[in-house]
Amino acid sequence: MPSNETIASHRLFRCRMCGECCKGYGGTSVNADEIENISAYLGIPPERFIEDFCVFSGRQPVLAQGADGYCVFSENNGCRIHSVKPNMCRQWPFIPSILVDIDNWEIMADSCPGMRLGASAETIRRCVKKALATT
Ligand code: SF4
Ligand code: SF4
Repeated sequence: MPSNETIASHRLFRCRMCGECCKGYGGTSVNADEIENISAYLGIPPERFIEDFCVFSGRQPVLAQGADGYCVFSENNGCRIHSVKPNMCRQWPFIPSILVDIDNWEIMADSCPGMRLGASAETIRRCVKKALATT
């Protein structure tokens, strides 16, 4: 989940710290840099990180889920790897796919109580672009 402080200023979104975005198979992908950073943080080799904490979506490693349906790093509605979490988690909900299809904002808001509905597409796009420029 994102840091409440970093994006609270956006009137479109205020994180409620409910942890719901860390639940379900969301395909949180990890690139080579992220794999290296998270492995180093955990103190394990990248190969072991992939083996123990990832599953594959095609050829792309994505974070695995625990038996409870939450990301393997979800802990008490927080993130066990907060300081090195993947970009996708850092950016949420201001992610690139909103710019591809603005309807994704509404779809995502179904599972994220922190996202505000009713703003214009232009406002949403502007906020996404601004947030992405800083991540
Ligand atoms: S689902 Fe939304 S409100 Fe809940 S923790 Fe995730 S980002 Fe925050
Ligand atoms: S890495 Fe952290 S923020 Fe990202 S889905 Fe997993 S628990 Fe949530």
